[in-house]
Amino acid sequence: MESKDMKELKVSAIKEGTVIDHIPARSLFKVISILELQKMDTQITIGYNFESKRLGQKGIIKISDKFPSQKDLNKIALFAPEAKINIIRDYKVVEKDNVQVPDNIEGIVKCMNPKCITNQENVKTKFVVIEKKNVTLKCNYCEKITDQEHFEMK
Ligand SMILES: [Zn+2]
Repeated sequence: MESKDMKELKVSAIKEGTVIDHIPARSLFKVISILELQKMDTQITIGYNFESKRLGQKGIIKISDKFPSQKDLNKIALFAPEAKINIIRDYKVVEKDNVQVPDNIEGIVKCMNPKCITNQENVKTKFVVIEKKNVTLKCNYCEKITDQEHFEMK
């Protein structure tokens, strides 16, 4: 059963900003943290566990008056490869974009090698993305491979 509040949330429109749709529900909070939404000072609406035919349960994020760079948005492809970006101007969708797995990842993911310097000292992780479909990362420091099953937030 869907509550009335939920329905209202679903239809609530924003005037200017960015809507990120089709986020797998399990990745929603990772996406929030990757985009550092907690540091933004504009209105943000977060919808959680909406039904989706493709994803089962999905999340939606609406960010008023902010337009994160495509580079920043691409970082969420690691956890939400099917996410759709809608750019809203004057209540209308003026642009639709997909996210794309970037070539390099800085921060975000932990190197799975416990001996890696990034796990020993306060060093930001850096990876080259060597496989984009089943995202696989190679550490710049220790060259160990971290695959999707071992992604842990840094
Ligand atoms: Zn490493």
